Amino acid sequence: MVQLPTVSPKILFLFSDTGGGHRSAAEAIIEALHLNFGDAISTEMVDIIKQYAPRPLNRLPDLYPSMVRLPRVWGFGYRLSDGRHRARLLNASSWPYVSKSIRALVANNPCDLIVSVHPLATAPVIRALNNTSRPPLITVVTDLVSTHAFWYHPQTDLCLVPTENARQRALHYGLKPEIVQVTGLPVANRFCQPASDKQHLRASYGWPANRPLIMLVGGGEGMGPIEKTAHAIAQADLPISLVVITGRNESLKARLESYNWSIPTYIYGFVRSMPDFMQAADILVTKAGPGTISEALNAGLPMVLYSRLPGQESGNIDYITSEGAGIWAPQVTEIVAAIRHWIDHPLNLEQARLHCQRLARPHAAHHIAQILVEKVGIPIS
Ligand code: UDP
Repeated sequence: MVQLPTVSPKILFLFSDTGGGHRSAAEAIIEALHLNFGDAISTEMVDIIKQYAPRPLNRLPDLYPSMVRLPRVWGFGYRLSDGRHRARLLNASSWPYVSKSIRALVANNPCDLIVSVHPLATAPVIRALNNTSRPPLITVVTDLVSTHAFWYHPQTDLCLVPTENARQRALHYGLKPEIVQVTGLPVANRFCQPASDKQHLRASYGWPANRPLIMLVGGGEGMGPIEKTAHAIAQADLPISLVVITGRNESLKARLESYNWSIPTYIYGFVRSMPDFMQAADILVTKAGPGTISEALNAGLPMVLYSRLPGQESGNIDYITSEGAGIWAPQVTEIVAAIRHWIDHPLNLEQARLHCQRLARPHAAHHIAQILVEKVGIPIS
């Protein structure tokens, strides 16, 4: 039972659409707050870069999809900026350029608690708030393992991380152990439901019930060699069916739809029914995005990982493969071999499924919601 104060405390979420993961994490926590505490808390989301960064930095969310299509350049920039002193230096040198905007953000959005789900938000906002009566600021890290130094600011009040590896990283970058807590990555409630009946789900989408179902997806933007991979899987002479999700990549969708497939194949653009698709599938072939990985773990869906963004997604490969939840297959021939291996050895596939379930943290968003509510001082009995 929640005892309502006269005015509901406000939590401000700072995110930006550089990739889909920051928005999804904020939305998942807000959903959990409303599910658990109704109207006891009010929330607001601010895209710190699009709404407040000075030009041309405010165009970063629009440019991000093109930037990550140059993975080597992205990886170089990531390594160059990653490090405690480097992050501090970069934050200090960018302050004169961003200070006016960030001070405006703080002035326009009075609140009782700030939650930062973006690595570029934490340091400038803490600096802009630089006084003793500031609201607490909690960082929720939305990368899984190889997390950037920008995430970890010593004056954050609490840092919630998705994995033990990320916790170690936080300590390495100088955070005190008592302010770092492993909660898991928050994902939407619809990804956290008990398993549904596979056959029933497949029938509802018109997919064959009796063939192992492979699902191929490249994040929200349909990234990676999806076309080549789909053709190789279809031509592998395996008794499977294939679902390909092209996300927002419309031209890829049109090309795949024009092809005459030799196995039952179903092409989709951006789908909202990802939880159903994951529950219906037997194997996921995907890039190593943190959101997709965490959702697949919740669905008990073993993964073949074909690419990763150098930097924030690099550690995801080791994490998933060393825990037995997936296979790293950067070449198309390796992707097909990995699928063949699991189709020929269903017990190994079942083992991987159990490892996914072991790593899953379906209560992460609810756990985080509880921590935030305690921080704003609402008594929960
Ligand atoms: N997604 C979706 N529909 C699609 C493709 C992707 O809802 O058609 C979601 C997916 O479930 C995940 C997110 O988009 O939540 C992708 O996040 P991830 O961190 O894996 O990769 P990003 O796109 O941020 O690089």
